[in-house]
Amino acid sequence: MKISDVKDRIDKEGIVPIVRSVIKNIKENDVYNSFLELNEKNAIKQAEKLSDEGNNDKPLYGVPVAVKDNIAVKNMKMTCGSKILQDYISPYNATVIEKLKKAGAIIIGKTNMDEFAMGTSNEHSAFGPVKNPLNKEYVPGGSSGGSAASVAGNLVPVSLGSDTGGSVRQPAAFTGTYGLKPTYGRVSRYGLTAFASSLDQIGPITNSMDDLVSLYSVITGKDKKDSTTVDMHLDDLNKLKNNDKKYKIGIFKSMLDDDINIKIKEDYYKILKNLQKKGHKLVELDFDKKDYIVPIYQIIAPAEASSNLARFDGIRYGTRKEGTRSKEELVSKTRNLGFGEEVKRRCLVGTFVLSSGYAEKYYKKALIARKMIKKELESKFDSVDIIATPTTPNLPFKIGEKVENILYMYKSDLFTIPANLSGLPALSIPLYKTGDFYTSVQLMGNSFKEIDLFKLGYEVEKITGGKK
Ligand code: GLN
Repeated sequence: MKISDVKDRIDKEGIVPIVRSVIKNIKENDVYNSFLELNEKNAIKQAEKLSDEGNNDKPLYGVPVAVKDNIAVKNMKMTCGSKILQDYISPYNATVIEKLKKAGAIIIGKTNMDEFAMGTSNEHSAFGPVKNPLNKEYVPGGSSGGSAASVAGNLVPVSLGSDTGGSVRQPAAFTGTYGLKPTYGRVSRYGLTAFASSLDQIGPITNSMDDLVSLYSVITGKDKKDSTTVDMHLDDLNKLKNNDKKYKIGIFKSMLDDDINIKIKEDYYKILKNLQKKGHKLVELDFDKKDYIVPIYQIIAPAEASSNLARFDGIRYGTRKEGTRSKEELVSKTRNLGFGEEVKRRCLVGTFVLSSGYAEKYYKKALIARKMIKKELESKFDSVDIIATPTTPNLPFKIGEKVENILYMYKSDLFTIPANLSGLPALSIPLYKTGDFYTSVQLMGNSFKEIDLFKLGYEVEKITGGKK
């Protein structure tokens, strides 16, 4: 399902029947466990209001959007996939939600996710795993697995996820959808439950480049409620399709070792060859810091998370363990009861690497190493316009198959993490079918150069034929 399909149906039948039928379809056919809550009453009310206004030139007029359950939608639950927030209702809208509504989009519901966005498979949700629509025995990726499954399963045309180390792009790759992590500061994080604040960005998941660009252009912009947002000029996004710019595309040969799935590697080289035939130039780049990427992330992200999640103490938010006799007992029992295993693991690691005596050895070192990676990656853009890698080293695995293999999970974020560590924009595009699944390519651009990713992304989509 694409935005254009919805628009055609709205033109014929009107906005209210379409919203009703999208909701009915989700109720009957969400066999993927991708939705945690539907916004039924309000979505229909919103559709009626739009219909009465009769102003259908809003860019997302009547377009149903699914929203990851760590983004605040007023008067809806925001569980973040956690037991500790299972009854929490948000009193306000995130900035991205305000922007979507202003553009005429309909907020259809909240999607399942790994608890507090920590995960790669969506098996770490307190509300059950999400199934991959391409094969229901397999994981859809994570942590925005519900958002990806809702789009891949054609329940909605587009959704929002959040990406701290790959959580938009990796589930997009696993479900054969398109996913973008914008430049840090491009999209307001106001109303996004923080995981690792210096890495988090909200991004779209869609079935086409057109839809990705449409959603992106609505949610971006400076926001006085998020001081890290930047007032950057948004390029003209109407002239992306007939690109005549020839790009220099950087490739990291040293990152493509034997650990990468052979089919993923083959298709990666195949698309690069096709782009070369169209006049783009391939440039081999040195990059010798591959082995540091995951360790740096697995120090910085947990450190920030342990601090961000300190607010969930049973006093201020959500579920509280009753019958305790001291504040310490209340906090520790509430957190023990409310948090799942992966969240506890990250909080323990985070607290450890920040603790006195170890902060110098781990956290501060990781900050320095992060800066080195950022500097090195940025310097690559002196000689290339875009860096292309696979999005993931692996294809989807069966639900339950890897859940105990923590290192396998962590290592599968190898290609996506660098864009978060350095704030750069990165786009994942599905390539070719292999069995039930798709291989994918990731295009990483210079800061605020999303436009280059879009132009080349359209070319890739044209070469592969896109999704039907
Ligand atoms: N898979 C990564 C992790 O578990 C990324 C998560 C994310 O981007 N939210 O930390």
